Amino acid sequence: MRLWSAPDHVRLVFDMSGPVNANVFTLDGPDRVVIDLDSTDLDFDVDKLDLDDSAISKVRTGVRESGGLRVVLDVNRAVVPKSFTLPPNEQYSARLVVDLDYPGASAVKDPIDPIEAMIRDQEIAAQRAQKEAVAEGNPEQAEVVASAVEAQPHPKRDIIIAVDPGHGGEDPGAIGPHGTREKDVVLDIARKVKQRFDQTPGFKAFLTRDGDYYIGLRQRTLIARQQKADFFVSVHADAVRSSQPSGSSVYALSQGGATSETARWLAASENQSDLIGGVDGNLSLDDKDEVLRGVLLDLTMTATMNDSLATGGQVIDQLGRINKLHKSSVEQAGFVVLKSPDIPSLLVETGFISNPREEAQLKSSAHQAKLAQAIYDGIVAHFRQHPPPSSLLAWQRDQGRGGASNEYRVQRGDSLSQVAASHNISMKALKQANGLDSDILRVGQVLTIP
Ligand SMILES: [Zn+2]
Repeated sequence: MRLWSAPDHVRLVFDMSGPVNANVFTLDGPDRVVIDLDSTDLDFDVDKLDLDDSAISKVRTGVRESGGLRVVLDVNRAVVPKSFTLPPNEQYSARLVVDLDYPGASAVKDPIDPIEAMIRDQEIAAQRAQKEAVAEGNPEQAEVVASAVEAQPHPKRDIIIAVDPGHGGEDPGAIGPHGTREKDVVLDIARKVKQRFDQTPGFKAFLTRDGDYYIGLRQRTLIARQQKADFFVSVHADAVRSSQPSGSSVYALSQGGATSETARWLAASENQSDLIGGVDGNLSLDDKDEVLRGVLLDLTMTATMNDSLATGGQVIDQLGRINKLHKSSVEQAGFVVLKSPDIPSLLVETGFISNPREEAQLKSSAHQAKLAQAIYDGIVAHFRQHPPPSSLLAWQRDQGRGGASNEYRVQRGDSLSQVAASHNISMKALKQANGLDSDILRVGQVLTIP
C-alpha cells in the first residue's frame, strides 16, 4: 500500500499481484471507510504508512468471514470515497486506487484572499466588456469601459502567479542516472520560485502542488483558474535516452495547440462545464452567437499567446545568464498545461536530469535557487513592462515610481532584526524609515528599506 496526501484529498494505492474485486463504502459513528477485497491476503505492514496531513487517523485490517481482506480507515473529517482499478504497466503491477475527497476543501494550501479575488473578478469583467465591444466593432464603447474602470480608486492588487511543479505522487516524472526524481527537484525549485514572488510587494504566488501527490494536467489549469492566476509557469526537468544533451528550454503553447483548444472550448459539450474569462461565471460563452464567440476566443487566445511568448523571451534571457540553453529561443508545443485560453502560460525545462552533471546540479539547493531566481526575474520583468491595470505595479508605474527593489514584504517568522540584517542595515535605520515605534512586525506588512 502507498499513500499520497493532498490538501483536498488523500489517495491510497494498493499494489496487487492480480486483478481484484473491491467494495468501498463509508460507515458512521465513528466515521470510517471500509474497503473489502475479495480473495486477497495482505503482505504489508500498515503501520509503515505515513498518515500525517491526511484525513486518515488509523488503518486497521482484518480477514473477512467469507475470506478476503477488510481494510478499515478511521477518518477525522468528512470524506467522499472514489475507487478504481488500474492494469499493470512498466512501473507497477495491477492497482486498486482509493481516493478520499474532502468536500469543500481547497486544492491549494494558501488560497487567494477573497478581497483580492473580488478585485480580480471586477478587472476580468471589465476586460471582457472591453473585448466584447471590440469584437462587436464598437471601439467607443471599449474606451468608455476602460475609462470607467480607471475612475475607481486604485485597488493596487497583487499579481497572482501559479507555480506548477510537474508530476508528483504515482508519477515520478523523469529519473536521473543516479536515481534523482524529477517530481522532487521540480517541487524544490517551484517552492523557491513561490518564495521569491511572495517576498516581492505586488506579487503573490501559489503552488498547484505542494507535496508528493499527483494532479491531472487539466486539473492544474483548473486550479490556476480558480485561484484567478495572472500567469502560470510549469516547472519540469527534461530526460532523453542519451546522457549528452544538457541545458534549459522554455515552451509556450503552439499555434496548433491553440487552434485545437479554441475548437474544444467552442464545442457545445465543453461549454456546459467550462467558462472562459479566468473566473467562473464571468464569461459564459452560452449567451453569445457562434461568430462572436469565435472572435472573442481568438482575441483572448492571441493576446494570451503573445504574452506567453514575450514572457518566455524574458525567462530564456535570464536562464541563459546562469545555465546553458538547450534552445536559445522560446519553443512552442501543444502541452496540455499551457492551454488556458486566458492565462499566459510557460513550461520551463530547467535542465536534463538524464545528464549526470545536470542531475547533480538540479539536486543542489544553490543551483535550484539560481533557476528559481531566473524564472522569477523573467516573469517580473514582463509584468513591470505590462502590469495589469488594477495591480500595485500599474499604480507604481503611474506614480512614476521605479521598481519595488527598496521594499520588503514581511513573511511569517520574520523578525525586525533578521530583516535589518538581511539588508545590511541597522534596526534603528529600518525603524526610522518606516516610522515604527516597536519591534513588532505583521505578516504582509511592506517595509521601506532605506
Ligand atoms: Zn516533466
